[in-house]
Amino acid sequence: MADADTHLETDVLVVGAGGAGMYAAIAAARGGARVLLLDKSLVGRGGATIMAQMTVAVAMGEQAPDHWTRHHADTLTAGRGLCDEVLAALLCREGPDRIREMDEWGVGWTREDGHLKQVMAPGHDRPRCVFVDFLNTGPAVAKTLRGKVAKTDGITRVSNLSVTSLVTHDGRVAGAVALDLAKGNPVTIAAGAVVLAAGGLTRLYRRNSASVNMGGESYALALDAGASLIDMEFVQFFPIGHLAPRLVGMDPIMWDPFRYKLGGRLLNGNMEEFIHHYGATDSGAYTAPRDVTSYAIVREVAAGRGSPHGGAYLSFEHIGEAALRDAFGPVIDRLARNGIDLAQGPVEVAPIAHYHMGGIRVDERMASDVPGLYAAGEAVGGANGANRLSGNAITEALVFGEVAGRNAARDRIAPVWDAAWAEKAVSDITRLSMPIDTASGPAFGILFSELQNLLWDKVGLSRDEQRLTAALSRIRNMRSVDLPALHPRDSGPFAMGVQEWFDLRAALATAEAITVSALNRTESRGAHQREDMPATDPAQAHNQRIRRAGDDELVLDTIPVRRATIDTVSRGAAE
Ligand SMILES: Cc1cc2nc3c(=O)[nH]c(=O)nc-3n(C[C@H](O)[C@H](O)[C@H](O)COP(=O)(O)OP(=O)(O)OC[C@H]3O[C@@H](n4cnc5c(N)ncnc54)[C@H](O)[C@@H]3O)c2cc1C
Repeated sequence: MADADTHLETDVLVVGAGGAGMYAAIAAARGGARVLLLDKSLVGRGGATIMAQMTVAVAMGEQAPDHWTRHHADTLTAGRGLCDEVLAALLCREGPDRIREMDEWGVGWTREDGHLKQVMAPGHDRPRCVFVDFLNTGPAVAKTLRGKVAKTDGITRVSNLSVTSLVTHDGRVAGAVALDLAKGNPVTIAAGAVVLAAGGLTRLYRRNSASVNMGGESYALALDAGASLIDMEFVQFFPIGHLAPRLVGMDPIMWDPFRYKLGGRLLNGNMEEFIHHYGATDSGAYTAPRDVTSYAIVREVAAGRGSPHGGAYLSFEHIGEAALRDAFGPVIDRLARNGIDLAQGPVEVAPIAHYHMGGIRVDERMASDVPGLYAAGEAVGGANGANRLSGNAITEALVFGEVAGRNAARDRIAPVWDAAWAEKAVSDITRLSMPIDTASGPAFGILFSELQNLLWDKVGLSRDEQRLTAALSRIRNMRSVDLPALHPRDSGPFAMGVQEWFDLRAALATAEAITVSALNRTESRGAHQREDMPATDPAQAHNQRIRRAGDDELVLDTIPVRRATIDTVSRGAAE
C-alpha cells in the first residue's frame, strides 16, 4: 500500500486561503474547532481576492438610503431569473455585518464626511459599493484577513500544500490528499469537516484576468467527491479588459474602477457610442450590465466596427487631467510609465474571462450534497444566476466563508482515518513523482494552452452546437488519451511537473462540465450566448445540475430555481 510521508489531523480542513477560506477559518475557530487552513500558494496571497481592485457591493445605506432587499432585487434582475434566491438573500442580508466586522479589523474602507463612501456600479439601482483607495480593495481585504487569521487561536496555516483529492468514506468526507510542493511528497489529512474554498476557473480561457491558481480545482475536487455542481455554463466575461496599448505590471481589469469614479465613454472603431443599440444605456455613466456590454463589443467587432486590435475604445479625454489625478493620483503616474495619457487619447478594451457564476451546489448553510463537505466563495454556484453584479463576489467570499466555517465547526465529527481510503490518491502522486528517462510524450504547456484556446474559441463568448460538440469531443480525448500519456519531466522539491499534471486533470474535468452544460442549455441567457439559439426561452428558467455517475460519466438534469419570499415592507423602508 502507498503511504503518505506525512499525516495530519484536524477538526475542520479549509482548502484555499483567499477571502472565503480565511473567513471560514476564522469562523470555524470561533466555533471552537481546530482548523487547518492550507493553500497551494502562499496563505492569503494566492487567488483572486488579493487581485480585486475596488468594488464590494453591500447595502450599508451610509450615503444614500438603502436596504439589503434592494440589493437582493438588483442581484436577481442581473441574474436573469436563475439566481438561487436563498443564497442571494444570504449574501445581501449578511453583507453589511461582514463589512462592519472588516472595518473593526482595520481594513480601511474609504470614507467621506465620516461615512463609508459608496459608489455606483453597473446593475445597482443606487451607489452601493464600498472600496479601499487607490485600487487597493483586494490587497487590503487579504491583509486584514491574514492578520486576523494569525491572531486567532486554533488556526494552523500551511502554504504550498495543494489538495489533489478529497477522501470520502461511507458517503461522508473524511479528509484530503495533498501534494507538498516544497518537498514533492504526498500528505494525507483526516478532517471532521472540510470547507472547499479553492476559487474559480477563469485560467481555463485564453484571455483571462486570473492567476495560475484559478484553474477550476474547486469544481473538479467536488465532482470527484460526489457533490453536485450547478449552472457550469455561466462564465462571466468582463467587458472592458485592457487590450492595447501594451500595459506592464498593471491589472487588465483596472478600467472598471475608472468607470465607477469617472464614467468614461465606450466607443466603437468609428468613435461612436453603441451600447444603446443593444438595449442598455451607458452614456457618460457606467450602468450597462456586464453581459450586455460584452456581447455588444463582440457584435460591433463582428460587424467590422471594432477598434484596431479587435475591441472597443474607452475614452476619458473629456474628464480632464485634474479630475483624473484627483480620482486616481498614483495610478496616473504608473499609466504614464506605460506611455498612457488618458487626457490625450483612448485605450482599447475587449472582453476577458473573469468570474464563474456556476459552481458547487450548497444549501443556505453552505453544505454540499456530501455530508461534511462545505463550500465557500467563488467555488459556490447559484447566488448570481446567469450574470453577476459588480462587487458581489467579494461580499460573497466574506459572507459565504463565514457561514461555511461556522457550520462546518458546528457539524464536525471526530476525525477518523484509514490509509486505505486514500491509497489511490496517494499512489497517483507517488507514481507521477518517479523520474523518467525520456522527455518524449505530450508537454503540459502545449496541452494547457490548447485547452485555453479551445474554450476561448468554442466555449467562450459566443457558442453554437457545432463548436460546443467539437470542443467536448477534444476535451474528452485529452482526458482519456493525452492526460494519461503526460508524465512530469521533473521531480523533487518545487518540481512543478507533478502539480501541473493535477492542474491539467482538474482543468479538463471542469472544462467538460462547462461544455456539457453549455451544450444542454439551448437558449441564450446572461453570460451564456448561443449564436444558433439567440432567444431566451422562458421554459428554460431552471438551473442545470451536473454530477458524476460511476467512475467517470457526467449526468445532467434540471432543477427548479430556489425562490425566497422577501419581506417587501422592509424593502419599502429604503425609499
Ligand atoms: C483581477 C480580479 C479583480 C477582481 N475585482 C473584483 C472586485 O473589484 N469586486 C468583486 O466583488 N470581485 C472582484 N473579483 C472577483 C473576486 O475577487 C473573487 O470572486 C473572490 O475574491 C473569490 O474569493 P475566493 O476566496 O473564493 O477565491 P480566491 O481568492 O481565488 O482564493 C482561492 C484560493 O484557493 C487556492 N487553491 C486553489 N486550488 C487549490 C488546491 N487544489 N489546494 C489548495 N489551495 C488551492 C488558491 O491558491 C487561492 O489562494 C476580481 C477578480 C479578479 C481575478
